[in-house]
Amino acid sequence: MDCLFCKIIAGEIPSAKVYENDKVYAFRDISPEAPTHVLIVPKEHIASANDLTAENASVVSDIFLAAKEIAALEGIAEGGYRIVNNCGEDGGQTVKHLHFHMLGGRSLAWPPG
Ligand code: 5GP
Ligand code: ZN
Repeated sequence: MDCLFCKIIAGEIPSAKVYENDKVYAFRDISPEAPTHVLIVPKEHIASANDLTAENASVVSDIFLAAKEIAALEGIAEGGYRIVNNCGEDGGQTVKHLHFHMLGGRSLAWPPG
């Protein structure tokens, strides 16, 4: 499958790994928008949040539990952080493999544009 994040998970394209378990892979965004900007992805290819089903949705809790561990590793658990999912064209999704952005290390504005 011609999927950038599947290739990153497989190690075919290099990435700066932050965290990994049997269900989840996390790596630094190539174009960071905050001091901590980590992408957390399921190892299973799911195109977007809109493609979640009763069968595959448990990966979302796997991702949020991984996020909590990553926050501790990155030293942002106390200060706080934001987890963002962009879904589809209007949502600003550019890579069609479900991923959550974890942003932290600075104060973040709200609402996003
Ligand atoms: P989206 O816009 O789909 O929500 O987020 C995709 C993210 O992937 C962007 O923040 C972009 O900087 C990041 N990205 C795109 N290509 C690569 C890559 O080859 N390596 C890494 N580490 N991040 C990438
Ligand atoms: Zn994929």
